[in-house]
Amino acid sequence: MRRPLVAGNWKMHGTCASIKLLLNELATQVLPAEVDVAVFPGLVYLQAVGAQVAQSDIVVGAQDCAVQLEEGALTGETSALQLADIGCSMVLVGHSERRQLQDETDSVICRKFIAAQAAGLTPVLCVGETLAEREAGQALAVVQRQIDAVLVELGVDVFAKAVIAYEPVWAIGSGLTATPEQAQDIHAQIRAHIASHSAGVAQGLRILYGGSVKAANAAELFAQADIDGGLVGGASLNAKEFGAICRAA
Ligand code: 13P
Repeated sequence: MRRPLVAGNWKMHGTCASIKLLLNELATQVLPAEVDVAVFPGLVYLQAVGAQVAQSDIVVGAQDCAVQLEEGALTGETSALQLADIGCSMVLVGHSERRQLQDETDSVICRKFIAAQAAGLTPVLCVGETLAEREAGQALAVVQRQIDAVLVELGVDVFAKAVIAYEPVWAIGSGLTATPEQAQDIHAQIRAHIASHSAGVAQGLRILYGGSVKAANAAELFAQADIDGGLVGGASLNAKEFGAICRAA
């Protein structure tokens, strides 16, 4: 069976003081041994967070990495190798906020996915449709296109060491959660799409749901057959809430 993963994407939130407090509070939460728990702080806090969770089972990931793997004259960029060097084990690639706000294309995201794996990091490939795309009946086509940008380019086996996060853009930070049925429908189709290339890879692939996950709706979402945990934004900034979400997985 797939081991659930609950990941907190802290986005551009926090200060040294607030993050220390959040982790202190999280340390008082009972986190289930059978669930993997990860946090994705902002870049400048990665090392401090890594040090603070070092004695726990919580792993640390970054929210983005450079396309380039080798060091070089790339002002402002951070490579996947550098992230691995400071102790990260995962990295988000293709979050919708980066697709929308930083104009990241499918091909750029594919290159980041490659860089992440080359550095030994587990890429969490984020996919999801906008409200307009859902209303136009294109949700699955969009998600499939975003996955195929990696799958067709690199082959299915790369998903043996990756995670997919389905995050409908209309559900992010909006309080509008996909219903468990809506989420399960897309998750099942994502898994079927991967299975059409390799049943074994599809079977082992963790597909997370993201978009207004909170303690009140997590259990119902995570109970779905093809939902293997969550990528949690806002609610991950509250230790009690995040702890409860982890326990629901
Ligand atoms: P919210 O949980 O705040 O909707 O954010 C979801 C998300 O974008 C996680 O990556």
